[in-house]
Amino acid sequence: MNEAIKITNLKKSYDKTIALKGIDISIKDGAFFGLLGPNGAGKTTTINILTGLVNKDSGETKVFNKDTEKDFRFTRSQIGISAQEFSQDWFFSLEKLLYFQAGYFGIRKKDAESKVNELFDRLGLNEKRSSRLRQLSGGMKRRFQIAKALVHDPKIIILDEPTAGVDVELRHELWRYFKELHNAGKTILLTTHYIEEAEKLCDSVSIINNGEVIAKGSPKELMKSEGKEGLTINLSKSSSKVKNALKDFTYTQEDTRIHFTLKNPEKSLPEIIKKIVDSGSHIASIETSKSSLEDVFLSLTGKGINE
Ligand code: ADP
Repeated sequence: MNEAIKITNLKKSYDKTIALKGIDISIKDGAFFGLLGPNGAGKTTTINILTGLVNKDSGETKVFNKDTEKDFRFTRSQIGISAQEFSQDWFFSLEKLLYFQAGYFGIRKKDAESKVNELFDRLGLNEKRSSRLRQLSGGMKRRFQIAKALVHDPKIIILDEPTAGVDVELRHELWRYFKELHNAGKTILLTTHYIEEAEKLCDSVSIINNGEVIAKGSPKELMKSEGKEGLTINLSKSSSKVKNALKDFTYTQEDTRIHFTLKNPEKSLPEIIKKIVDSGSHIASIETSKSSLEDVFLSLTGKGINE
């Protein structure tokens, strides 16, 4: 397997805080990977170590098989990062800032031109080319942040909370763009407060909590292995016979509504229906509900992502 990013037993402490307790993360070339965790879990520390902003205590971080410390220039050039915080470059036009960013990676103005034009176009910022950052709305700043990450055409794109604070319309527009980048073969590492965003976009995720990876897999796999299915059966009229019929199951009942939480619905659902029907009771309707990735996240970390 060709790995874009490989993190092995990565540890980091700041004074008394242990931020990373030895995490392992492997991201395939071309993956759309989500790093999820509540505030303080260690996401930013991980990204900052990958991009050389923070020094690790121990462990290994590799980008396309090269060490991010020993081969910093190469590994950093493979990554474009859209950081959570907006940059504070208030004095230059957006166009100048994009060319500076390309220059930082050794790309001359004339070689960056077509990419700069493409990004201004694609991100709807053409009319703002000569504006300053402070003159932009929050959503435009966010789009510019993404343009800056992409100007040197990196193979890996790190999106740190890329839709924080943007309205629903722009969020959907950005999601479409991220999918487009993914389809074009980019490897994407996304951290997000919106679990729904990870569920929609990512093909694999790791959930970290208190500096440890506590679950990993595709959103589907996590929902299957960690999730539960809710089943509510509504009877046509209340019946005393169901109690005996369902004696082997755990459920709650309110008059004609019987509610189950199932770990293995494929197996237990037909059994439950059969027992009820065999008892001579009539089923009026059946409702089911599935755990979302957010439910899985909440049950694993014991807290909401904003806490
Ligand atoms: P996340 O990005 O998941 O919110 P962080 O990586 O920012 O998490 O933080 C992980 C832990 O490390 C937190 O407890 C945080 O307070 C601590 N931390 C992060 N940066 C610093 C720093 N520069 N100095 C001291 N503690 C820090």
